[in-house]
Amino acid sequence: MTADTSDASGRDASRRDASRRVVVGGGIATGLLAALDGPASAQNSGAQNSGSSGSTGAGGSGTAGSGTAGSASNGGAGGAHAGSSGLLAPQDAYPRPPFPRQEQDWPGLAQRMEPQPDHGEESYRGSGRLRGRRALITGGDSGIGRAAAIAYAREGADVAFNYLPVEQPDADDVVKLIRDAGRKAVPLPGDIRDEAFCRQLVSDAVSGLGGLDILVNNAARQHAAPSITEISSDAFDWTLKTNLYAMFWITKAALEHLPAGAAIINTTSVVAYDPPKDLLDYATTKGGIMVFTKALAKQLAERGIRVNGVAPGPIWTPLQPSGGQPPEEIPRFGASTPLGRPGQPVELAPLYVALAAETSSYSTGQIFGATGGSGGP
Ligand code: NAD
Ligand code: MG
Repeated sequence: MTADTSDASGRDASRRDASRRVVVGGGIATGLLAALDGPASAQNSGAQNSGSSGSTGAGGSGTAGSGTAGSASNGGAGGAHAGSSGLLAPQDAYPRPPFPRQEQDWPGLAQRMEPQPDHGEESYRGSGRLRGRRALITGGDSGIGRAAAIAYAREGADVAFNYLPVEQPDADDVVKLIRDAGRKAVPLPGDIRDEAFCRQLVSDAVSGLGGLDILVNNAARQHAAPSITEISSDAFDWTLKTNLYAMFWITKAALEHLPAGAAIINTTSVVAYDPPKDLLDYATTKGGIMVFTKALAKQLAERGIRVNGVAPGPIWTPLQPSGGQPPEEIPRFGASTPLGRPGQPVELAPLYVALAAETSSYSTGQIFGATGGSGGP
């Protein structure tokens, strides 16, 4: 993904107006296509942002995720802008490069990113699509996992989530967001590189939630290295344990509990389809996750359990400034996509909701992309 750092836009970061955050999720019809329509149905939502999230829970709670950078006008060369329809062009919907140079120790905190990632704290509105469901999400403290956790809770699901103990400050925010949506939050810290912990994680999620209907294998380690000679066996093992083994262990344990109608969603990546040279170990795991997803879907079809994957492009999350990219690449992160910016975690939420919802009953063994316009499935 370091390829995402060249300047393809030449546009100015100040064109982002924080008050123009899109509203995602709510009020749209059920079904995969409808969910995919989330960003496309973006509205010029300044007035709506301050309100509640609609029928299934509180929104607009004002926690981390507000306060994105930039505040200037809606104009500028080359962009498409809100017209009389109230639609907002996707390239202008969220912050654009350049971003401030920043580094964090692995695994990083969303709280410390500038601009703050948007996980849907203020914008995601539920419409009861996952009412009564029980979900376990790995890496649910920040980034894409947090966006899924918020959306699931606002769609009516109780949510257990895993994270590393050092990520407790981010996890505390997520617990509050889930509870503010009126749903049960079950925070389960621990290191998923350990098989025994993975089994315990599933067991604790099942007892905390009273069962399990949705599993999102989303946690990952990404650490850029320019050459295979600079990847130690320990580092290789770390990446494979986190990204592949944990998915295998957690899924196996979860299958003792998942009923017919349940959904498994694995987070893969555009790098599974076009691996950058400096993400050799990580891209290998993302390719593995894609294949695992397709093969497992065939196994589990007769049990009535759907298995799908999401392939994000460059997304503004702590994974990147904590070693996922070389630090010098962060200011231009996402610039080389056709949309000229990285995605925000909230822009993935409609996919995770759609794939979890019963209405996607004919989708299994599929990978769905959200890439900003290039690469992916
Ligand atoms: P993130 O840093 O917010 O989330 C990754 C999470 O993985 C961390 O929050 C952490 O809780 C968890 N994790 C890592 N090692 C762990 C361990 N040993 N034990 C327990 N938890 C551990 O970043 P994100 O970008 O939201 O990542 C979520 C998923 O999205 C990952 O699978 C990542 O590969 C994928 N992805 C991200 C991008 C991107 O550009 N950000 C692009 C494509 C795919
Ligand atoms: Mg995190």
